[in-house]
Amino acid sequence: MRATPNWADPASHIARHLPDEALHYFSPATLQTTAKRFLSGFPGLVTYAVKANPGEEVLANLWAAGITAFDVASPQEMTAVRATCPGAVLHYNNPVRSAAEVDFARGMGVASCSVDCPSELARLDPLPRTTEVAVRLALPVVGAAYDFGEKFGAPPEAAVDLLREVARMGFKPAITFHPGTQCADPAAWGAYIRASAEVARMAGVPIGRLNVGGGFAAHRSGPAPDLEAIFDRIAEEVATAFPGTPPALVCEPGRAMVAEAFTLATRVKAVRGTGAVFLNDGHYGGLGEIRDIGLGDRVRVLAPDGRLRAGAFTPRIVFGPTCDSLDRLRDPLALPEEIAVGDYVLFDGMGAYSRSLATGFNGYGPKETITVERLG
Ligand SMILES: *Cc1c(COP(=O)(O)O)cnc(C)c1O
Repeated sequence: MRATPNWADPASHIARHLPDEALHYFSPATLQTTAKRFLSGFPGLVTYAVKANPGEEVLANLWAAGITAFDVASPQEMTAVRATCPGAVLHYNNPVRSAAEVDFARGMGVASCSVDCPSELARLDPLPRTTEVAVRLALPVVGAAYDFGEKFGAPPEAAVDLLREVARMGFKPAITFHPGTQCADPAAWGAYIRASAEVARMAGVPIGRLNVGGGFAAHRSGPAPDLEAIFDRIAEEVATAFPGTPPALVCEPGRAMVAEAFTLATRVKAVRGTGAVFLNDGHYGGLGEIRDIGLGDRVRVLAPDGRLRAGAFTPRIVFGPTCDSLDRLRDPLALPEEIAVGDYVLFDGMGAYSRSLATGFNGYGPKETITVERLG
């Protein structure tokens, strides 16, 4: 599916409708282009981490572009994927599961599960032995915006024991890791791939697949990240670390797959004498992730007629619309001096962890998504 865009771009929709509530613009063409970039460049199976943006139009367009497998973390995500992509392969990679969730997963016929400790592996006993079980490895690696290893993953020695137990139980053994989100440093993948090979060797268990996680960086500021350089580095590291019989590869991008396909549009409600700006969206809406990983520089301001505001930019304090003093952007934001009430502040590259984190606190938060041919 590629819903026919109703609008050429955000500026034409804004000039016509003057939307007063925050909203997202979505470009199916951009999403499919990114999917095809992963499919042609990554040397293995490309799955999509649904939590980054579980929207039906996202799942449908990824499916149409040729993505057939999805990384899911909950029964609700499994249901959402199968509703839109009927034959989809499910990888259930949330390593902590209730007994009821394991039952649900069995009913869904999940193809792969990850584990990071013996008690969680024991809980997978009801699953058929055709299921792949990937041991999730954690290393103290830097390079990402924040470290996923703090919550999930087994250190190498524990991973060795766990991998042996996976094989003993009769599941298909694999290894997985996640270098941390918005990871721009290829060395993180290198360290994990070498450690994975070492774990498999120490365990004496050959692995059929190695899942190199998500974590691929989206374009937040400066030049766009070079995904192909990371793909090439992954292929080289795997060839060196697993001489002879390299495992098949899997990746599970969330952010880098979907970020570029959405722009968040907010409107200026007030400009105070101090220069501070109040927007109609903020921390509790589509900008929820900014407090943790900061904002890039991909911000543009449009006048109500759709014209781009140019001129000098000055850093300003930006508040969101709710009556909560935490509802303020972490860092000052450079905005044009001529910015005025009624203008639109557009945040590009907001497809991941924006709509999926937005709340309706105080009645705000982006609600509508408008399909456009192009975002720029
Ligand atoms: C969140 C998550 C991903 C996606 O991470 P991104 O940084 O968005 O690419 C992939 N795999 C697992 C297991 C995750 O939890």
